[in-house]
Order: sequence, then C-alpha cells, then structure tokens
Amino acid sequence: MFKINENYLKLPGSYLFSTIAKKVAAYKEANPDRQVISLGIGDVTQPLAPAVIEALHRAVDEMGAAETFHGYAPDLGYEFLRRAIIDNDYRSRSVDIALDEVFVSDGAKSDSGNIVDIFAVDNRIAVTDPVYPVYVDSNAMSGKTGEYIKEKECWSNVIYMPCTAENNFVPHFPDETPDIIYICCPNNPTGTTLKKEELQKWVDYANDKKAVIIYDAAYEAYISESDVPHSIYECDGAKTCAIEMRSFSKNAGFTGTRLGFTVVPKELKSSGTSLNQLWARRHGTKFNGAPYIIQRAGEAVYSEAGKAQTKQQIAYYMKNASQIREELTNMGYTVFGGVNAPYIWLQTPEGMKSWDFFDVLLERANVVGTPGSGFGPSGEGYFRLTAFGSAESTAQALERIRAL
Ligand SMILES: *Cc1c(COP(=O)(O)O)cnc(C)c1O
Repeated sequence: MFKINENYLKLPGSYLFSTIAKKVAAYKEANPDRQVISLGIGDVTQPLAPAVIEALHRAVDEMGAAETFHGYAPDLGYEFLRRAIIDNDYRSRSVDIALDEVFVSDGAKSDSGNIVDIFAVDNRIAVTDPVYPVYVDSNAMSGKTGEYIKEKECWSNVIYMPCTAENNFVPHFPDETPDIIYICCPNNPTGTTLKKEELQKWVDYANDKKAVIIYDAAYEAYISESDVPHSIYECDGAKTCAIEMRSFSKNAGFTGTRLGFTVVPKELKSSGTSLNQLWARRHGTKFNGAPYIIQRAGEAVYSEAGKAQTKQQIAYYMKNASQIREELTNMGYTVFGGVNAPYIWLQTPEGMKSWDFFDVLLERANVVGTPGSGFGPSGEGYFRLTAFGSAESTAQALERIRAL
C-alpha cells in the first residue's frame, strides 16, 4: 500500500496568496461595478527588455537549425551564462567565485524549495520573522519543522527571529542554536536590509556555530544604499558558511520566463563533505536545466543594453516605491522599506490586525495589499504594499487610501 508524505497534512490551510485571491474574487463578484487595484502580489508588470527579447529570438532561430540546435543543457548551466554571472555579479565586487560554484536553475523559488533535500531532517532551522513563506513551507514538507501550532500560527521546531520596528528589522541572535539560518536581504516583505557590518556579525556567528546561512538575494538589484552588501560573499568568511540564491525575476522581469542561480562554495562543508558536491549530485539527477533559450535571455541581461534597460525598469518601480513611502508618511502612517526594495511595510493604523486592515482597504478603498501576519507571527500589525504596479494605478490607489 502506498503512503503519502504526511508532512503535507500538517501545512496550514492554503498559501497566503490563494487566500487573498479568494477574498478579492468574492468581493468583485458581490461588487461588479468596483475597480479593484492590486498593490498586493509580488509580481513584476513591466515587459521584458528589448535586449532580452532580441536574444530570445536569436536563440529560438538557433534551435530550428541542426548546426545550432541545443538539447539537454549542462547540469550546472551553460558556461556563457555562468561566466557572465561571475564577472558581473561577483568579480565586479571583488568577490571570487569559481565556475563550478554557480548552479543555474529555473528560479529562486525552486532553489529554496529544493535546497532542503541536501540537509538532514533533524536540522534546526531559523528564519527572520516575517519572511518569504517558501522557506518554512518547504522545510515543513520535508519534515524539519515539527508541529504546526494553530493558535500561534507558527511551527514548534522553527526558531523565529523577530524583525520589527523595535529592533529596526535587524534580528538578534536566537537563544537556541540553529543549524540552518535563512536570511533574505533586501527582505521580502519588510523591504529592509542589513548593513555590511550587521551581516558580517551573522557570518561570524554561523561560522562559530557551524551553521549554514541560506541567503536570498532576489532583490539585490534594488539596493541603492552603499553600505548594504549586494552579496553575502562580500563578508569575510562567508564562503565557509553561506549559500546564496539569486533570481532574474525581480531585476529583469523573468517571473514568467524562469531563471535563477545558486552559489554553493566548495569550502562550505559539513564534517568534511562539501555541500557543493551534494548539490551538484542533486542537480545531475533531479534537474533538467533551464532551457538554452532562457539562458541566452539571461546572458542578455548582462549586455550593455540589457543592463541599461533593466536598470530603467527598476527605476520605474522604485519611483512608485518612493511615492508610496512619501505619501503614506504624509498621511500619518509609519512606513519602512521602499528604499532598497520594491516593498513598503507599514504599521496598521491604531494597532489594527493585519487582516482587518486588509478588509478595510479592500472594501473601502478597493485596494488590495498583503496582511503582514501572512509572512510570520511578527508580521501581525503590519501590512505590505508593493511597487510593481503601474505609475497610474499606484497614484490612484494612494488617492483612495488618502480618502479613507
Ligand atoms: C520573488 C521571490 C523569489 C522568487 O524568485 P523566482 O526566481 O521567481 O523563483 C525568491 N525569493 C524571494 C524573497 C522573492 O520575493
């Protein structure tokens, strides 16, 4: 008799964004005359840059001729892309990463979900709280998080490290010692960052405790302040304790095109075994590679034209972000983020619960945002707005919020 993975049964209800989608659909059905604006879901809206589209066309044509056709991609990704990554993302910041330490993938969500495979079940995980839900959920699916405690909306075996206005969104070292530490910087959902000296303390801590940091740098391209590191490997000693994940989704609009990569340094070892070898073994067996066409598109992001065009897209979103920040502040809201990330994290007015504020915004302003509590227990009392809308819809949403 076959048996299912019972860890799935422990997962609470539905994924945050499905719950929101259901609520919005119900509201629209009951109020068909209302125009609802979404400043909620973390998906980009600007089209792919012309340089990327040209590369896609060229690669498609190559696939149609026997001499230039490409079958299965190499396990780690094409060398042209890994070289472009190393030169542009690392060497330019004086970080030395080897070709066989870069693993091209179909995105950072997949990598966050899959990386749990190479760690034993009895690892203790720690997450900054609130954070991108995929880390905890994928550890839960592989049985690493204990039991779900419904009343507290948290897992019994996860170390939550609160990041709130009280600690300026910089986590304290936890009382219990974690084995795997998730850090997302710039952070989704709070939009906040760690300065280099703050991240260095975490690198030192991880080396001291023989823990590994899984560093999600999906929003690296949004960093505008010079004291915020773009890569964890800018910190001394990070190669013996950190895995870094990156994505082409938020910097170049690849959310529907799918491309990312993970860096696993060879010096990163557990009792003498290199994690790089384990991840390579996994990639070889379970991963078919990102398509050639898409890897060529990714390469084009690093071309001169590609860099200029994607920079413009980020500037477009960040203009929305600063508008949201500024106007909400003028309205009397307390806001965070929006400087090094396309997310604005606001305190709900008068200590309102996150979901109550969601309902108020939806029903009275017809604006959709994301309740902070959906990102972890410390998100209660906060709310996330994203800068990924059009300039027009963002301005209109702000006008409606002002009228509340
Ligand atoms: C959007 C997002 C990702 C997803 O990246 P993909 O490459 O599209 O899978 C990863 N991490 C964070 C924090 C994100 O917000």
